Amino acid sequence: MASSCIFCKIIKGQIPSMKIFESDKTLAFLDIGPLSKGHSLIIPKYHGAKLHDIPDDQLAEVLSVTKKIAIAQGIQDYNVLQNNGRIAHQEVDHVHFHLIPKPNESEGLGIIWQTQDADKGALSKLLEDIKSKM
Ligand code: AMP
Ligand code: ZN
Repeated sequence: MASSCIFCKIIKGQIPSMKIFESDKTLAFLDIGPLSKGHSLIIPKYHGAKLHDIPDDQLAEVLSVTKKIAIAQGIQDYNVLQNNGRIAHQEVDHVHFHLIPKPNESEGLGIIWQTQDADKGALSKLLEDIKSKM
């Protein structure tokens, strides 16, 4: 827990939230600035700013809770988003997964997907480099 963290304060009940689900490791609640109706946040209770800061066992439930909320909302089109770092649009430094319903073109998550030309040789070299460090 981090005393200045807004999501740790929500976990401790020091500030209110619209809770959807709670277990010993996981909390889910409605986003107060939704991109679409039903936009939810699913968080590990363990405090860490980025995905790689969170122990595996603290992350274990997050995807299944996300799936449960999607099913409960009856949504068919949606994005699951998890931002790491300011430049990657992270505002709250406690790991959180967004579940964002995509009911139509204009609501929900907007994505700019700018692909780059990929050189096959460079990709193979990169692949070997990553695999060697796994
Ligand atoms: P991100 O840009 O990935 O860090 O997203 C942070 C999200 O947290 C935003 O969508 C905010 O609307 C949401 N948020 C911030 N404070 C609260 C709060 N007190 N209760 C619910 N959602 C919040
Ligand atoms: Zn926190």
